[in-house]
Amino acid sequence: MHEPAVPHLQAADPDIAGLVEAEARRQFEKIRLIASENYVSSAVLEATGTVLTNKYSEGYAGKRYYEGQQNVDPIETLAIERAKALFGAEHANVQPYSGSPANLAVYMAFLEPGDKVMGLALPMGGHLTHGWSVSATGKWFTPVRYEVRRDTGRVDMDEVRDLALKERPKLIWCGGTAIPRTIDFPAFAEIARETGAVLAADIAHIAGLIAGGAHPSPVGHADVITTTTHKTLRGPRGAMILSTAEHAKAIDKAVFPGLQGGPHDHTTAAIAVALKEAAEPGFAAYARQVVANAKALAAALAERGYDLISGGTDNHLVLIDLTNKGVAGKPAAQALDRAGIELNYNAVPFDPRKPFDPSGLRLGTGAITTRGLTEERMPRLAAWIDEVVRNVSDEAVLDRVAAEIRELMAAYPMPGWAPAP
Ligand SMILES: *Cc1c(COP(=O)(O)O)cnc(C)c1O
Repeated sequence: MHEPAVPHLQAADPDIAGLVEAEARRQFEKIRLIASENYVSSAVLEATGTVLTNKYSEGYAGKRYYEGQQNVDPIETLAIERAKALFGAEHANVQPYSGSPANLAVYMAFLEPGDKVMGLALPMGGHLTHGWSVSATGKWFTPVRYEVRRDTGRVDMDEVRDLALKERPKLIWCGGTAIPRTIDFPAFAEIARETGAVLAADIAHIAGLIAGGAHPSPVGHADVITTTTHKTLRGPRGAMILSTAEHAKAIDKAVFPGLQGGPHDHTTAAIAVALKEAAEPGFAAYARQVVANAKALAAALAERGYDLISGGTDNHLVLIDLTNKGVAGKPAAQALDRAGIELNYNAVPFDPRKPFDPSGLRLGTGAITTRGLTEERMPRLAAWIDEVVRNVSDEAVLDRVAAEIRELMAAYPMPGWAPAP
């Protein structure tokens, strides 16, 4: 049953209620390894479902364009103060609708159309919004792309520096969606200083690890930091922009009125709740466990002959090149999903295959760590993954593994759903 219960939804719209219930059960029964996903707490879930969704609040606390902000102003102020305290930042804007709009706001704040932006290429682990060609950011600005090294699978800071000196971008992005290694924020900052660029750190994936002290922080190095709130940070769908005091005005103006109208106040409240949770001591333990689980899973996969990009992981994320296993990413991901292991197919650096049918798999340990899985479970998980990858079209194997996984996960409660008593 969904928790909190949704009796009004059931009565008003049984179709949607039935699908929500099915989704909740699906999240309970599977091993969820999609690196950008998590399970939010019941408190975060409740905050997203409140009457705050009824309110319009264009502007910022104390300077709104609508009346009736007696409660929204303190809610947004709490979220901002908690964000600043958690990350040690001078300024926070909690209004961006999601990670992509937050990144657009950075362009709006610092660039004119056509200006040069440098980011990690998408197939190397970067994000669309860092200037990739199909994104507005790659069409409206002039992209320059750095890559990872073929031999190490890692970003080479000397190469980044040479490219930045040659191209002189106005904005440099560090961070991405498929980076298994620690990002060297001080080295990026040095390059940005040397070339006169603005440095933006996109910590969407690793924000929770940073908050929990399990990854170095870009604060004090990057001019501006963007993050989603819903990945390892374990909040609602949303985003934040942190910056130095110097850039506060430019960022706020870029978000509103530059790009957005009214902020989603129910999301703001849920972000505030998630930030309070992330400041509790238990969250540092969570962040450490996420990394410990990823390292254990990476080691167990490597032992079974899996080719890991960069040879392993420093964070929550593992990127596998399946080429030596004789199966492509997509059929492997589909078979794994059928077998109760949910992850995504992903390009690997220098992938000879097409983006919609690439060579790799990406997985992350944010969600399973929230469920309470620890390192001791990782060898078994690697064994299941291996069994499925070796038997992608053997339905009997897939069904048996799915049943074994359902049985395992029944012992690990999730916020948001529990089996009927
Ligand atoms: C997830 C992600 C985003 C985009 O977030 P959305 O909320 O999906 O728009 C931006 N940058 C990075 C690095 C991400 O991982």
